[in-house]
Amino acid sequence: METLRLYLDKDRENSIKKAAKILKNGGIVAIPTETVYGLAANACDDNAIKAVFTAKGRPQDNPLIVHIDSMEMLGKVAKDIPESAYKCAEKFWPGPFTMVLKASDYVSKSVSAGLSTVAVRMPSDEIARAVISECTLPLAAPSANASGSPSPVTSEHVIKDLDGKIDAVIMGERCSVGVESTVVAIEEDNARLLRPGAVTAEMLKEIFPELIVDKAILSQPDSDEKVASPGMKYKHYAPSCELFLVEGESEKYCDFVNTKKDGAAICFKEEAELIKAQTFVFANQSDEKAMAFELFEMLRKLDEKGIKKAYVHAPSKNGVGLAVYNRLIRACAFRVVSV
Ligand code: AMP
Ligand code: MG
Repeated sequence: METLRLYLDKDRENSIKKAAKILKNGGIVAIPTETVYGLAANACDDNAIKAVFTAKGRPQDNPLIVHIDSMEMLGKVAKDIPESAYKCAEKFWPGPFTMVLKASDYVSKSVSAGLSTVAVRMPSDEIARAVISECTLPLAAPSANASGSPSPVTSEHVIKDLDGKIDAVIMGERCSVGVESTVVAIEEDNARLLRPGAVTAEMLKEIFPELIVDKAILSQPDSDEKVASPGMKYKHYAPSCELFLVEGESEKYCDFVNTKKDGAAICFKEEAELIKAQTFVFANQSDEKAMAFELFEMLRKLDEKGIKKAYVHAPSKNGVGLAVYNRLIRACAFRVVSV
């Protein structure tokens, strides 16, 4: 199929209307959001959801996030919503925050991939919201990349992975956050962090002082282990380049990289001039938000430049750093070196 490019600078209104029309007719459209580009489909249309899984090559048991634009829509897609979820909605919506709640019968069963729960997010991105509103439908939208590859933060990334496999792509701007949403499973009075994002564990602890941080965030689940978030067990975010996550102080990291005969360094700004190998500068060491913004663009750049091996200096696990660390450890296939 030919993938239609929908431009925003020329005729924004018309592009949004066209996207909505395709979605209402069962098509699949990549849309910008504040986190990463999403591959949207009508969450109530079983065939459209199946097309999303096929286009991405996504494992059938990895559920999708449903995107909404109002609290009224939340009431349709989820049921028995606990008070704490409303508190979260007030504090973190619209924004890069997803709640796993009990599913109603409203959305297609295949969205939840066999679970009795549904993941729901209200995005803040204007274009994403305009598309949902124009459709007046909840939209299931996983990241608009080929399953396993780094998530797309520009329309060019989407085209690289999915051109010819999806109906259309909205040619929006680069995503402002750069990593996918925080995913939290809400229980009555507590919550479990399943995937870290720009809404940080520290922010969540203001509502849930006893917040549980799922161990799959920083470790590799056993192949037969049942995980709370199915996505955590798959190969993810990985460029073709072989990556190693290096933990330790700056001086030791630089020494370590300088002893290596091959491989590039993905380092902090402060370290670049101390390293002999080819460097890819991530961000300032203390700026986790900038790292999140750069992360996926950086991982894709490694492949474009034909880099075969690279040593990444691990960020801190504080704030948004935990999200960056979580994506990196998977991109590195859990190859961690301590120096
Ligand atoms: P993506 O759509 O690529 O952003 O990935 C969505 C993430 O949310 C995956 O890690 C899923 O496993 C997770 N997720 C979606 N729905 C649920 C659910 N009902 N329960 C637990 N995790 C979910
Ligand atoms: Mg994804």
